[in-house]
Amino acid sequence: MNHQTYHLKDYTREELVHILKQMGEPHFRVTQLFKWIYQKGVTDFSRMTDISKISQRKFDATFIPSSVRIETWKTGRDGTTKYLFRLSDGRDVEGVLIPDPPRLTLCVSTQVGCRMNCAFCKTARMGWVRNLRTGEILDQVCQVNALLRPQRRITNIVFMGMGEPLDNLENTLKAIEILGYSDGLQFSHRRLTVSTCGLVNKLVSLGDETRRFRLAVSLNAADNDTRSRLMPINRQFPIEELISVCRRISLRNRERITFEYVLLKGINDRPKDAMMLVKLLSPLKAKVNLIPFNETEGIPFHRPDRSTILKFQEILVHAHLTAMIRESRGDDISAACGQLATASCS
Ligand code: SAH
Repeated sequence: MNHQTYHLKDYTREELVHILKQMGEPHFRVTQLFKWIYQKGVTDFSRMTDISKISQRKFDATFIPSSVRIETWKTGRDGTTKYLFRLSDGRDVEGVLIPDPPRLTLCVSTQVGCRMNCAFCKTARMGWVRNLRTGEILDQVCQVNALLRPQRRITNIVFMGMGEPLDNLENTLKAIEILGYSDGLQFSHRRLTVSTCGLVNKLVSLGDETRRFRLAVSLNAADNDTRSRLMPINRQFPIEELISVCRRISLRNRERITFEYVLLKGINDRPKDAMMLVKLLSPLKAKVNLIPFNETEGIPFHRPDRSTILKFQEILVHAHLTAMIRESRGDDISAACGQLATASCS
């Protein structure tokens, strides 16, 4: 008798076929299982009516269908909701649902904590605890969808919550593959965005295969001195290397790489910084998201004045660079960019 149990959402189609085969189950069970758990949100095997009772019982003894549980949630004045996800080892990660009709975007976490140690980021203060498993990344989407059912469902996913997705690349890529399945949630590459602090060694490998997601790079400064102070990873992979690897990434028709730039008062918000940014990005198919810093307790940076922010944007736009100001969402519930960290460290 085989008593091994499997977290069902950890597995790709190929892997699950293999597991089912060992259990003596037919190949087509994979499609049935995917439809139930991802499309219909049914995790109780006894409700999977096209699966025989014998197999239902076998699955019940073998598979753990959910990997995270929504512990609490809080909705802010602007409709942004922050979720606290409890993992099976008792750890927590956070996610944020951002309504922006017709889109409904979920920001998911890929690690408990983070080891990139960016100076302005709240998650960094926690340190790094562990990577999320594939199922733990995916199940954030499934659990929120279950709460939204049947009226609404998540249309877009951004990997911009806690952690550095490229520091947990294998599990993140598997989650993305599974999110795209036609018998699953059917997320197209246009609706998935992975945000990275710029792990050049990992970005290199992404160019080779067909990327099933859009890319966002957190740049945050256009010169190495400033960037290294803000983002220690820049000492390992300086700006020139980052830009050069971005140039080599093959983009689809009309696709652009998004560069995120957190505006910090007196640090990276001068007209001169905007001009450096223009020059840096000129060889690329790029657009810029300007994120006015979200002030958070214990982090010694400030948000620039509105006029400084607008001036910065104007310089970019004048140079024909698409630049959007990302208005802060969910700041009253500490759900804004960079404010994610679990209670133990806030
Ligand atoms: N590690 C990934 C994804 C998580 S951070 C990355 O670095 O991209 C997601 C975004 O939030 C990054 O662009 C980061 O620069 C930004 N950010 C972090 N702290 C912030 C804060 N306090 N205010 C505004 N943006 C912040």
